[in-house]
Amino acid sequence: MKKLGPFLDQLALRYSDAHYLSSDPLEFVHRYQNPWDQEAVALLAAVLAYGNVKQIRASVASALSLIQQAEPMGPAVWVRGLAQSPGARRRAEALFSDYVHRFNVGADLVVLFSLLSRSWQRHGSMGSHFLKGLAPEDATIERALNGLIRDWKNEASELGALDSFHYLLTAPEDGSCCKRWCMFLRWMGRKDGVDPGLWSAEANSELIRTFPAGRRLRADQLVMPLDTHTGRISQYLGLTERKSLGWKAAIEITEKLRQWEPRDPVRYDFALARLGILDLCQKRYRVEICSQCELRPGCRFGGAKERRA
Ligand code: SF4
Repeated sequence: MKKLGPFLDQLALRYSDAHYLSSDPLEFVHRYQNPWDQEAVALLAAVLAYGNVKQIRASVASALSLIQQAEPMGPAVWVRGLAQSPGARRRAEALFSDYVHRFNVGADLVVLFSLLSRSWQRHGSMGSHFLKGLAPEDATIERALNGLIRDWKNEASELGALDSFHYLLTAPEDGSCCKRWCMFLRWMGRKDGVDPGLWSAEANSELIRTFPAGRRLRADQLVMPLDTHTGRISQYLGLTERKSLGWKAAIEITEKLRQWEPRDPVRYDFALARLGILDLCQKRYRVEICSQCELRPGCRFGGAKERRA
């Protein structure tokens, strides 16, 4: 990591910039000022983050437009209403009746927002619900994420969730890398020009008044969100030898990054993901691309090919 770390820092310097948010669903969160709106929109944008980014952003925009149609005061007011009146859920189901995002349908989002609404009602915020399961001595978010997902899975059954809904809830205890949830938690636990850090130590909104005393999500507890791009590039960089990119691989990669950046191991995620999303790292050696890449000296794939050439 001593060799690779400076190259990762250079990459983060280049791509961890708000300018690149236009290629990410996180950009929708930045459109809102109210922290409750931000928490709701972040959850929506994160759970829909599978498939290609164009399709993800179109699906997030379409869901937000439906909510805006039903409640001009914003997503938080609409979400809060779901747990308050039985009729609100029926109206939401009608509103989302034609909605589809790949494996999920509108009814799945209505269940998701109903769960969020219940968390707000019972715990004050989703952040508070999550942080009640996260002890300061926990090295990672694993235990708290398992707890939240277990709670929501139990309640989803009471709400009559369809089978497709369960695609939205993944837990470390099932072996999944939980990419969408680790990404959501990165947004909540880090604060910089890209990540809003709504549950972080730097957060300063009324949301934090709902948190258990002294509890915040620390950046060093986050786990690397692994998707097809960050997983593949992590393998090129030797951050994992595992072929299967499940939870164990996510932990292994995070541990390696922690050797270089103990307080903030996932700060490289946004930059690494840009290489894949923007097609700047392809699945083959391209001299015109690899010769410009900050990671070349540490990359088994691009770097090794170049050395042989
Ligand atoms: S050197 Fe090439 S293959 Fe390696 S990370 Fe960079 S762009 Fe990807």
